[in-house]
Amino acid sequence: MRILIAEDEKKIADFIRRGLKEEGYAADLAASGPKALELATENDYDLLLLDLMLPGKDGFAVCSELRAAGFSAPILMLTAKDTVEDKVKGLDSGANDYLTKPFAFEELLARVRALLRTRPGESSLVLKAGALELDLPAHKASLSGRELELSAKEFALLEYLVRNKGRIVTRTMIAEHVWDINFDTGTNVIDVYINYLRRKLEKGRAKGVIQTVRGKGYVLKPDV
Ligand code: CA
Repeated sequence: MRILIAEDEKKIADFIRRGLKEEGYAADLAASGPKALELATENDYDLLLLDLMLPGKDGFAVCSELRAAGFSAPILMLTAKDTVEDKVKGLDSGANDYLTKPFAFEELLARVRALLRTRPGESSLVLKAGALELDLPAHKASLSGRELELSAKEFALLEYLVRNKGRIVTRTMIAEHVWDINFDTGTNVIDVYINYLRRKLEKGRAKGVIQTVRGKGYVLKPDV
């Protein structure tokens, strides 16, 4: 899952980004309203965290412009204000939810997970592909009931594959949803992570779960 953080206070932005990364999300930063618009238009984000008070263009304006342009990912507004008026204005400009600063990071994460579940066909807390199960809130993957020891990045990659089980996912799709804007397309880091996952799945006696489609990408067997 790839998230855009539009926040001009560097300390807060870095704190959120670091926390999201630890959870396996890919996250990019925009420090102004226009930059948020630019990045959200250029990239395929799964969620936008949008601060209200941004230089150049405030969160309300960014939100309504993105919605007018067809941006369909969930938007979580972050605001230092907690007046009813601002909350209403935020939701009416196209945000799905809001969080008042200061907030507990655990709550931010829970709201992010809840918003990601509002997308079509993704209401479940547990993702399955045959004997493979991913508990999203707990960040735990298991195969036939036995837990797989995965890093946050490996979990994020496996989650993306399971969400798209039975379908070919290209390296570009993986890079866009599992890695952030600093991803170097010249490296073989995706193949390296695919191999980590394969090794761990094979240890759990599941062979050929992730197949390579030559010249295209990878596909996860739907009936592991
Ligand atoms: Ca701000």
